[in-house]
Amino acid sequence: MFIEIRELELHPVDFAEEFSPGVIDFGPDIQQRTPLESHGRAQLVEEHHGKRHSIKDIRLQGAFSTSFELSCARCLESVPYNVARDFDLLYRPRGTDAGKEEISVTGAEAEIGYYQGAGLLLEDALREQVLLALPLKTICREDCKGLCPLCGRNLNLEQCSCAESVEDPRWSALRQIREKLEP
Ligand SMILES: [Zn+2]
Ligand SMILES: [Zn+2]
Repeated sequence: MFIEIRELELHPVDFAEEFSPGVIDFGPDIQQRTPLESHGRAQLVEEHHGKRHSIKDIRLQGAFSTSFELSCARCLESVPYNVARDFDLLYRPRGTDAGKEEISVTGAEAEIGYYQGAGLLLEDALREQVLLALPLKTICREDCKGLCPLCGRNLNLEQCSCAESVEDPRWSALRQIREKLEP
């Protein structure tokens, strides 16, 4: 859904949108499991700089919820993950803060983003919010044993004997060959 400045100049725009898995691209590692529901309101906020100059910002307030399947950082099994967040964001025209030290962006203020041209694509704003809401690393459970670094077995499901046989027979065979070659 494209939120147009031209329309916001007339009235605020309310939205209630649902995005099926695949509509918004979250990258190859993140699988969306259920539709992403979002609702909220976009409105124009005019910043006046002097008498003549004004900047048209878009304030985007709302909420979203959806669920994902992430992979466990240790054993690579998929882990269900639900997200639901409120947001209150301000989008300024791209280039507004160019050259400045982005003084206005401090932790205390609303989160600030930038839009380009005629408006803002809601999907882009949601993608960004979702990615911010997802953890960098997920584990399936606190005591996940992960994969064996030698044979790759999932140690939550089965045991392997790699830790017991301290030396892989293939390596000892190689060493014997090397010992013969070395003078
Ligand atoms: Zn795991
Ligand atoms: Zn193993």
